[in-house]
Amino acid sequence: MNKSDLSNNSLSSSFSDPLTIAKNPVIPSKRNMPNNVQLVKEILELKQEKNAVILAHNYQIPEVQDIADFTGDSLGLSLEAAKTTADLIVFCGVYFMAETAAILSPEKRVLIPDKNAGCSLASSITAQQLRSWKSEHPNSIVVSYVNTTAAVKAESDYCCTSTNAVKIVESIPEKHQILFLPDMFLGTYVQKITGRKNILVWWGECHVHAAIGSKEISKARHNHPKAKFLIHPECGCINSAMYLTSEKDPSTTNGKILSTGNMEKYVRESQSTEFVVATENGMLHPLRKKNPGKTFYPISDQSVCEFMKMTNLEKLRNSLRENIFEVKVPERIAKQARIPLERMLAIK
Ligand code: SF4
Repeated sequence: MNKSDLSNNSLSSSFSDPLTIAKNPVIPSKRNMPNNVQLVKEILELKQEKNAVILAHNYQIPEVQDIADFTGDSLGLSLEAAKTTADLIVFCGVYFMAETAAILSPEKRVLIPDKNAGCSLASSITAQQLRSWKSEHPNSIVVSYVNTTAAVKAESDYCCTSTNAVKIVESIPEKHQILFLPDMFLGTYVQKITGRKNILVWWGECHVHAAIGSKEISKARHNHPKAKFLIHPECGCINSAMYLTSEKDPSTTNGKILSTGNMEKYVRESQSTEFVVATENGMLHPLRKKNPGKTFYPISDQSVCEFMKMTNLEKLRNSLRENIFEVKVPERIAKQARIPLERMLAIK
C-alpha cells in the first residue's frame, strides 16, 4: 500500500498501515478499563450534551453495539445518521465508514474513536492506482464496492454493495467495459452471475473473509450438519465463502447469501434453530441477542477483524469528551464521491 496516497486521500499522516496492523493487532484489553457502568453513564451524558448519534457496525464488540443508537452495515448506518438532526456522528467502525458518513452528512461533524481502525480491503487499492488502471482502459465504467476510501469513490462512476452489485452492473449497457474493485471474490461472483465478459476485476481482498475457504465450510458442515449457513454479503463480504457457495461447492446449498439486515430477517422467520454464521464473528452478538431460542456458530474462531475490535467503551467516551478523532473529507473529494453513491441509490 502506498501510504503517501492515503495521506492525499484525506487520512491523517499518522494513520497506520492497516495491513501492518492486521499482523500486529492491538486488541482492547479489559484489564485496567474503568468500570463499564460508569463509562456507559458518561457516554450517555456526553451524547446528550453534544447532540450526538452513535453508530456501531455489526462487527464491533458487544458493549459498543449495545450503547449505539444504530447498529448495522456501513452504508445503512451512514444513511440513518444522515436522516437524524444530530450535530455529531461518532462512527464505531473503520475509517472508510466514517468517511462515507462524512460524505453523506456534510453538515455534521464525524468522529471515529480510533483513527488507526483501517480496512485491508479498502487499502487494497489507492486513488493513484485506480487512476493508472483507468488510464490503461479508457472509456471504461468504474464500479467500486463501498469498502473503499473516499478518494477511490471520487474516482468511480458507481458504488455498489454486495447486495446490489449484480443489479448495478446489469444497469450498465453491455457496450461499456467495467472496471470492478476492490474485492476479487465479489467481482468474480458478479462476472459469473451476469455472464458478462467485459468486466475486469481488481485483485483485492479482505484478509478476514479471504480466510474463510472450503476447509472452514467443510469443517463447519461436518460439525453442524443440521445448521443453515448464513453467508454475509457486506463488508468485504462477497468473499471466498460466497464464491464457493455460488457454484463451486454444491454441498453448501444449505447456505443463504444475506446482508446483515436480511440475515436477521431470515433467522427471525426461519423454522431452523441452528445457524452457522460465515462472516466476522461480531455478527453473532445481534443474532443471539434477538433470537434467544436459536443457536449460532461462527464459521471459524479466527474470523475476527482486528480493526473492528479496536474500539471500546473507553475510546468511545474519550472520543465524545475530547472530540477525537475528527474525520474530514475535503469538499472537492466529497462532492465527487457523492456522485457514485447517489447513482447507486437511484438504482432500485
Ligand atoms: S472485516 Fe474485512 S472488509 Fe470488514 S472492516 Fe475488517 S478488514 Fe475491512
